[in-house]
This record gives sequence, C-alpha cells and structure tokens, in this order.
Amino acid sequence: MSAMLKEIRCADAGFDCGFLVRSHDTNEVVYTLRQHARRVHETEIERGVIEEKILVLPATRSAGT
Ligand SMILES: [Zn+2]
Repeated sequence: MSAMLKEIRCADAGFDCGFLVRSHDTNEVVYTLRQHARRVHETEIERGVIEEKILVLPATRSAGT
C-alpha cells in the first residue's frame, strides 16, 4: 500500500473555484471532483483530465498506530 497522498484542485481542471480534494485513493479523488463538477459547475470532467492533473504529495509520517 502506498501512503502517497493525492490532491487536485478544481482550479486545476480549469474552473475559477477553490474546491480541493485530497485522498490516498486516486479513484476517490477522481470521483469526488467529478461529483463536485456535476453539482456545482453542471459539467462533466473527463476522468483522464483529472488523472493528468493529480498532484502526488510527499508521504508524511503519521503519528499513532
Ligand atoms: Zn469547483
């Protein structure tokens, strides 16, 4: 399992919007942003477009467990 955190901003997909999604799960990032675009911008964003723009953040050590 990779602990890499994925992040995408709605602005990266071309909208003037501050919405941000962060998850370890790429599918979740894609899904959440698409839901948001549909609801807020009434637009479909291609999955490929989102995957291209996803930013992978350096892994951080989490305390605990
Ligand atoms: Zn947005």
